[in-house]
This record gives sequence, C-alpha cells and structure tokens, in this order.
Amino acid sequence: MLNIFENLTHLQNIDGIILSQKKKIVQKNEEIRKIQQNIENNNLEWENYRKLYDKERIELSRLELELKDVEEKLNKSQNQLYSGNVQSGKELSQWKSTMESHEKTKSNLEDYVINQIDKIEGMRIKEKEKEHQLLIQRFEKDIDSLKKDIEKMKSDLSNNIQLRTDSIQNIPADILSLYEELRKKFSDPVVEMDGDTCRGCHLALPSSIAKRVRKKEEVIQCPNCQRFIFFK
Ligand SMILES: [Zn+2]
Repeated sequence: MLNIFENLTHLQNIDGIILSQKKKIVQKNEEIRKIQQNIENNNLEWENYRKLYDKERIELSRLELELKDVEEKLNKSQNQLYSGNVQSGKELSQWKSTMESHEKTKSNLEDYVINQIDKIEGMRIKEKEKEHQLLIQRFEKDIDSLKKDIEKMKSDLSNNIQLRTDSIQNIPADILSLYEELRKKFSDPVVEMDGDTCRGCHLALPSSIAKRVRKKEEVIQCPNCQRFIFFK
C-alpha cells in the first residue's frame, strides 16, 4: 500500500514539474512575441524617420535650385545694369531696385539653405541607421537565445512526459483516474497527514480515519477535500 503512495507522490512531483515547464514555455513564447512586436515598431519608426529625412533632402534641393535661379536673375540684372545699355535714370533705378530685390531674396535663400543643411546634419542619419541596425540585431539575438531555451525546455518536457508515462504503470487504474480527477481541482491531490490534519484542506480528520491512515494498509481520501492522504 505504501508503494502506491510513493508512486502517487512521485507522479504528483512529475506533474508539478511538467506544469511549470509548460508555463515557462508559454512565457518564453510570449517574450518572443513581445520582442517581435518591438522589432516591428522600431522598423516602422525607422522607416518614418528615413522618410522624413528624404523629405528634408528634397526640400534642400528645392531651396538650392531656387537659390541658383535667383543668382542667375541677379547676374542678369547686374549685367544689364553695367552693360551701358541703360538709357534713362528711371530705367537705372528700376534695374537697381530689381537687383536689390534679388539680392535680398538670395540672402534669405542662403540662410534657408544653411538652416536646412544644419537640420539634415542634425538628423544624424548614418548614426541613427547604425543604432537602428544594432538594436534590431540585439532583438534578433534575444529571440535566438529564447528559441534555444524553448528547444531545451521542450526536450526536458518530453523526457518528463515519458517519465510520467512510466510512473503511471505502477498505479492501479481506478486510483489513477481518481488522481486525474483531483488533479483538475488541486495541484496537490496527494498530501501527507499532519498530526491528525489533512495538509490539503487543513481540517482535522476523524480519529478513526487518522488511525486507518497511520496503519498504511489502504488508500484513504480526506472526507472533506477528497485528497489522498498518506502517513510517512
Ligand atoms: Zn482534506
């Protein structure tokens, strides 16, 4: 009779280990899922940053073209002014004011171009790209390591499932099926008697039952919680 309890306790230990291994595998998979989500978010963020950078580059090209255009206009008006073709004082002052207006536009555009170059440099695209790549590499490394952990856990789990299969061979079918039922309710369907008390539900056992438990001649269940009770 004692053997049955030893076997049941052994089975309960294995079941405890199997349950915790299964939970850990679920947790590790959840960690992987979170990291993958992080990778996706970071890729998206990086893509947006890259797009913004391209937009600023296009804006710089546009400003540079505009600057070139106004420089040409300025040259033209300067040439005209100093060509000696200007006849009247009125015409002269018109050209002067056109030139001044181009000069002002040019000076403004030069400031915009410098600002835009500063803005683009401030975006540190190369460094950011490197940082992004390193981050993704780190995430991927973490995933690889988690996957290896899971592989190891699955192999341990399958060993323990085999151990369980072996261990139930030694338990009578009716007791095993009772155990399986109790296992759905309790993580510890098999408990030791503590004094005259059930360690599962902590209620005192009738002394007649406690006596029978001590005799170790039969499989006894707690009248309150139905757990198997044994005495060492
Ligand atoms: Zn009990």
